Amino acid sequence: MKFGLSLFIALTLTLATGVRAQRAATPEIVTAIKAGHVIDVENGRVLDKQIILLRGPKIESMGSDVKIPAGARVLDLSTKTVLPGLIDCHAHLADGDQKQNADPFNQLRRSASQVVLESVPNARVTLESGFTTVRDAGVYRALNDIALRDAINKGYIVGPRMFVAGAYITVSGGAGAMTGQAPDIILPWDLHYGEANSPWEVRQKVRQLAHDGVDHIKMLSTGAVLTHDSNPNSLEFTLEELQAGVSEAKNFGLRVMVHAHATEGIKNAIRAGAASIEHAELIDDEGISLAKEHGTYLDMDLYDEECIQGETRPADFIEHDRGLGEIQRRNFGKALKAGVKMVFGTDSGVCPYEFSVRQFAFMVKYGMTPMQAIQSATINAATLIGKPEEFGSIRAGKIADLIAVDSDPIVDIHQLEHVTFVMKEGVVYKQ
Ligand SMILES: [Zn+2]
Repeated sequence: MKFGLSLFIALTLTLATGVRAQRAATPEIVTAIKAGHVIDVENGRVLDKQIILLRGPKIESMGSDVKIPAGARVLDLSTKTVLPGLIDCHAHLADGDQKQNADPFNQLRRSASQVVLESVPNARVTLESGFTTVRDAGVYRALNDIALRDAINKGYIVGPRMFVAGAYITVSGGAGAMTGQAPDIILPWDLHYGEANSPWEVRQKVRQLAHDGVDHIKMLSTGAVLTHDSNPNSLEFTLEELQAGVSEAKNFGLRVMVHAHATEGIKNAIRAGAASIEHAELIDDEGISLAKEHGTYLDMDLYDEECIQGETRPADFIEHDRGLGEIQRRNFGKALKAGVKMVFGTDSGVCPYEFSVRQFAFMVKYGMTPMQAIQSATINAATLIGKPEEFGSIRAGKIADLIAVDSDPIVDIHQLEHVTFVMKEGVVYKQ
């Protein structure tokens, strides 16, 4: 039995290594991409007729007069516009089948391993629609996001590069908790892993998650729309608790993203030093100037309103949401005019994953230029994640995360809803 098991493990490892080899472009492979147009997000311009030369997973050079070495693999995108791979700064890939998640109680109908395996298509669809990186904003079942991230990195499954939070740090009964069940129901550990009720408990959770291997911390400072018995206007974590979270995260080199709908909750999070405010519907003028002063990013999920109001969801969720979407879209324009830093985040999983790309047109509708919308999902997003030297633009030395569309998205932003070419780390996933 014991022997059988070790043979099984050895076989599994061999197979896994084989898969991994296919997923990473080997360093000696040289690829030349003939690009009709390239969006230069760092300088806000469009370049024509460029050759992008790749060596393995990295960009070696780009220019109109780059020589294609003999024997290079040539990809002809000369009729297309090439962009850096897109980045969604607020995704939820690891909560399983999206159709099951209109009500969080459905998490209790499946085991954690069922949920994470159901998440495999979420990762594939997200990558194939153009997102080569996501900043995942938390999971119902703690650490499922780490499992999904690692399975992608090891090449077991196909998906974007994931940065993950591990669990929601939330007050008991708060926006990130499983709520609405009878008081005598005992939840499994992973459905209340991130609950904390004092600055020191927050520090303890941050330490635990850092050791679990997360990439950032997610805290919830106000009530939520999509949580039972929650009020988006209520304040949950205090300023002191948020400061403790940011300070402890810093000790581990981690940044904190904070969910906040209510005005004071937004301002507390900015004052505490959050890297980004998620949703930020009820931000007021003072909040806008605080965000500017602190360099805090706003990550406003402008599109998902279409799904919250348009689908069958629990009646209390629809009631929480009433009016918030409209206010969010108005305040997005206001914050943008004031010069607050903005990133692209969809809260994917609220809408089906293939709809995430639809947010670009909404960002343009509510005030961004198409170039600003693209920058929010590329170089700005990479900077928020802390990796602007690794990805987020097309430049020598960066990872070869590239996508293409058939015609110029600066002229027609809806082009981004039809990405026809996807490459991640030098490997083509869609063509
Ligand atoms: Zn979210």
